[in-house]
Amino acid sequence: MLSQVSTWVHWGVESHLDHTTKRKILLTNIAALLAIVSLGSYALLFTFIGNPALINVIYTQIPFYPMLVLVLHLNSQGRNCQARWLLVFAIVASQIVASLISFGSFVNSYYSYILFALGAIVVFPLERWKSIAFIFVVNIGLFLYFEFNWVEPAPALLQLDNDVARLIRQLFPTTSFVSVLLLMGIVEFIAARSERRLEGLSITDPLTLLPNRRYFENTFKLEVAQSQRSATPLALAILDIDYFKQVNDTYGHDVGDQVLVHISTLLRRSTRAGNVIARVGGEEFALLLPNTKPSEALEIAERIRTNIEETSYSHDGRRLPVTVSIGISQVAYNEALEYSYKLADEALYEAKNRGRNCVFIHPQSPAT
Ligand code: GH3
Ligand code: MG
Ligand code: MG
Repeated sequence: MLSQVSTWVHWGVESHLDHTTKRKILLTNIAALLAIVSLGSYALLFTFIGNPALINVIYTQIPFYPMLVLVLHLNSQGRNCQARWLLVFAIVASQIVASLISFGSFVNSYYSYILFALGAIVVFPLERWKSIAFIFVVNIGLFLYFEFNWVEPAPALLQLDNDVARLIRQLFPTTSFVSVLLLMGIVEFIAARSERRLEGLSITDPLTLLPNRRYFENTFKLEVAQSQRSATPLALAILDIDYFKQVNDTYGHDVGDQVLVHISTLLRRSTRAGNVIARVGGEEFALLLPNTKPSEALEIAERIRTNIEETSYSHDGRRLPVTVSIGISQVAYNEALEYSYKLADEALYEAKNRGRNCVFIHPQSPAT
């Protein structure tokens, strides 16, 4: 059921559209569905009460259901502007019709106009401020008209039981204000979700989907602080693919990219929970190992190196041998972060010098 509702409200939210347009389509669809649910709930309540003036209202609202469904349909056809205006027309007109046929100023139904006045800013993009202002002024005008002019209700409505009349009188303003809160909650939820997505994009490498250098640098600081507090060792390993330029030159850049994805998958698989792995450069990866002594880091790095050497990447049915060199340093708390990085980089340089496809631990790191 929930997934069906989610499909409906996402009608017309196409991936090629910009974020604001998508959000506005989504909110218009949600508002149309809420309006349908609200019309239906009132119809049930009015049927239950059974007053002829209220039953009349149910009949007069019938044309507005297909109009609200049409709002979803128009959005699914990409006709967003028409969808928004039809939504505004349907809900305001349904309210005016109900007031003129039955409610008058008697049951506070005109409080809904405040909801509609505020709702315009939710479904219209800000650059349509003239439309927003227009809808706001019209609806506030309608509210004030019914508030300060006594509009006579249908005579049958006056025969309502006092308690029932009071209940309906309280229900309209309450549901209007709850709807405003609900809409605000939905807008906030959508905003929070897109913030999280943008944040995810800004710290993720699009090719390998590993965290990027920016994420690594931030996490590095946090991990150093954490290790210092708990007085546990922290190891840093930098991993660089050997002769990667040759892979590109021989097989092309696309195959090079696939090799990077392949290595990333292997790295992701071979790290434990709590370890941080990131792509920090073109064919360079960094691995942060909390609560790990240099000797243990050496073991882990050796395992990763062997794994990569043995799990070669296949291209067009041919084995494409890939190896990596790894440099390790123990992170020093009392030095700048760049210092530990420089040591691991020097160790990597030494590993390359020693013929590549090997691990080297920086001599300034405590003895293994
Ligand atoms: P070494 O063993 O000394 O590390 O040799 P190398 O060829 O790996 O080192 P070098 O730094 O000379 O070359 C790195 C190459 O990585 C150069 C560049 O074309 C390639 N590279 C960097 N980023 C990417 C990428 O995103 N995709 C692809 N396909 N290649 C990349
Ligand atoms: Mg490199
Ligand atoms: Mg390289």
